[in-house]
Amino acid sequence: MEYPIISKPNSYDDVLEPNLTNYEKSVQDFDWQEMRNRLNGLPSGGLNLAHEAIDRHVDLGNGSKVAMYWEGSNGEEETYTFNDMKAQSNKFANVLSKLGIQKGDRAFIFMGRVPELYFAFFGILKVGAIAGPLFSAFGPDPVKDRLLDSGAKVLLITPDLRNKISNILPDLPDLEHIVVINKNNRHENPLQDGDVSYEAEMESASADFETVNTQEEDYSIMHYTSGTTGKPKGAVHAHIAALQHMATGKWALDLHDEDIYWCTADPGWVTGTSYGMSAPWTNGVTQVIYEGGFRASDWYQIIQKYKVSVWYTAPTAIRMLMKAGDQIPGRYDLSSLRHMCSVGEPLNPEAVVWGQNVIGMPFHDNWWQTETGAILIANYPVQDIRPGSMGRPIPGVKTAIVDDEGTEVEPGTEGDLAVKPGWPSMFRTYWKNQEMYDSKFKNGWYLTGDRARMDSDGYFWFVGRADDVINTAGHLVGPFEVESALIEHPAVAEAGVIGKPDPVAFEIVKAFVSLHDGFERTDKLRNEIMGFVRSKLAAGVAPREIEFLDSLPKTRSGKIMRRLLKARELGLPEGDTSTLEED
Ligand code: ATP
Ligand code: MG
Repeated sequence: MEYPIISKPNSYDDVLEPNLTNYEKSVQDFDWQEMRNRLNGLPSGGLNLAHEAIDRHVDLGNGSKVAMYWEGSNGEEETYTFNDMKAQSNKFANVLSKLGIQKGDRAFIFMGRVPELYFAFFGILKVGAIAGPLFSAFGPDPVKDRLLDSGAKVLLITPDLRNKISNILPDLPDLEHIVVINKNNRHENPLQDGDVSYEAEMESASADFETVNTQEEDYSIMHYTSGTTGKPKGAVHAHIAALQHMATGKWALDLHDEDIYWCTADPGWVTGTSYGMSAPWTNGVTQVIYEGGFRASDWYQIIQKYKVSVWYTAPTAIRMLMKAGDQIPGRYDLSSLRHMCSVGEPLNPEAVVWGQNVIGMPFHDNWWQTETGAILIANYPVQDIRPGSMGRPIPGVKTAIVDDEGTEVEPGTEGDLAVKPGWPSMFRTYWKNQEMYDSKFKNGWYLTGDRARMDSDGYFWFVGRADDVINTAGHLVGPFEVESALIEHPAVAEAGVIGKPDPVAFEIVKAFVSLHDGFERTDKLRNEIMGFVRSKLAAGVAPREIEFLDSLPKTRSGKIMRRLLKARELGLPEGDTSTLEED
C-alpha cells in the first residue's frame, strides 16, 4: 500500500525562532550560539541542567506553576510546582553534600517513577555529580554490572529493590552510601544496617542550596544503552545538552506554555530523562508522571483525566494500543490531545495512519539514540508527514548517508546514517571505554550504526540496524520494510525479521510474527501472510519462512531484539540479555 502524505495536522504559532515553518531557511540561518542565549546560565557563570529546568522558572516568577502531576500505581495523586521542585532538589543536594558527594562523583538511582526520583535527580545535578538512572525492572546482575562499571558512590533505592539486590552489594567497592526512599511509608521496615533514610535526612535538610558552578562541558548524566545489539554501553552527556532538549522540545514536540505533556518513557532510558525531565521543564511545561505500567485503558484514562495535550511514546506501546482494539479510544475523551510523537524503534506507517484514523491525528516519528542525547531527525508539527519516514534533521545538525569509506552518497542510496560531530547533546564518551567511543567515528562523521536512505527532499528513511540488515541472493534487505508489510496483514500484531544462513542465497529472510487475538496459527494463515507480503514487496524480499510466536523478545525499553531471534534460530549463545524483558 502506498501511504499518502499526511498534510500539516496542526500548525502552531511558535515563540521559538526559528519555528521551522520555512524549514530550509530555518536550517540555513541557524546558529547554536544564538539559541544558547535562551538559557540563563548560573549566577556564577557556569551552566547546570537543574538550574535551567527548575530554578530558572522560580527566578522568572513562575514558581507557582505546576511542574508535575504525579499519579501513583495505587491511584495516589500528588502535585508539585516549580517552587516545590526547587526546594526538594535543594534539600537533596544538601543531603548529598553532607554524605560527601562531590562534583564528578556518580550517583545512581534505582527505583520506579515516584516524585522523589525527580527531586533526587536534580539534587544530584546541583552538587555537580553525574546522575545515572537505572530501570527499576532490572534484576541484580545488570544493576551490579552498571554500578561496578560506573564506580557509583551513592545509590538511591526503594526498600523492595534493596532487598532484591542485597546479594550484590558486598561486591561494589566504590559504593559508599545507600539512600533508601520509603515513598508514603509503603514499607514497614524500610531500613537495613548502614542505610541512610531519605525521609529522615530530607526533613532536617535546608531548602537553600547554591548550585555548584558546573560548566557547559561538565558531565551531567550517564545512560547505559538499551542493549538491543550487544552489551549496553555507558554514554555520558554534558550539561549543555539542555540546550538541545529545550529546542527540540519546541520543534519536534511542539511544547507550549499551556500544555500538559506526558512522556511514557522511564527515566532509566534516555528518553525518560531528555524528554521526561529536561525538554518539558527547560520549557517550563507542566507534565504528568504516571508510575504505573502499560495498560491500554489506563493510558487512555490518564490522557482524559489530566487533559494531556502533547504525548510522547514508543512504537511498541502504539502497537499494543492497536492490538487492544480500535473501539477502546472512543470510550474516552481524548479531545485534549493536540500532538503525538514516537521514538525508539522504526514506526511502521501502519501505526502512523492508525493514529490518524482512530485517535484523530497521526503519530510524528522522530529518530535519535542514547549517544545523540536528543532528537536529531523528526517529523515536525508544522510540516507534512511522510508515513514511514523519520523526518528531516533539526537545525544546527548535519546528518547524511555515507558509504563504507565515510563518503556522502547520492539521495536515494542506502548507506550508514552519519552525523557531523559537535551538536550540543552529543555523548562525550562511553564511560571507561574510549576505544569503543573512538571506533564510532570515521572520516569526520559519527556513525550511528543504523542504515538508512535520504530522499531528494531530505527526508530520512530507516532501513535497519547495520547488524540486522539481511543479505539475500545479493540483495540487501532491511528488516523494517518487511516487518511493516507484515503488520499490514490484519492477523499480524508484531513482526521481527532476520537473515537465516542459507547455502544458496547466503541468507534467506525469515519472519517471526505474533498474531492478534482471535487468529489461529495455521499453515493456511502462514501461506496467506506470505502471499500477502509477496504481493507488496519483491518476491526476493518477502519472507521465505514464517514462524509464529506468542510474543517477540524485546528489551525492557520495548525494542524487538532481532539478534536474539537470530541466536535462538541458530542455536548460538544469546549474548548479553541483561535488558531482555521478562514474559
Ligand atoms: P544498543 O546500542 O545497546 O544496541 P539501542 O541502540 O537499542 O541499544 P538506544 O540508544 O536506546 O539503544 O536506541 C537507539 C536506536 O533505536 C537507534 O540507533 C535506532 O536503531 C533505533 N531507533 C530509535 N528511534 C528510531 C526511529 N524513529 N526509527 C527507527 N529506529 C529508531
Ligand atoms: Mg545503539
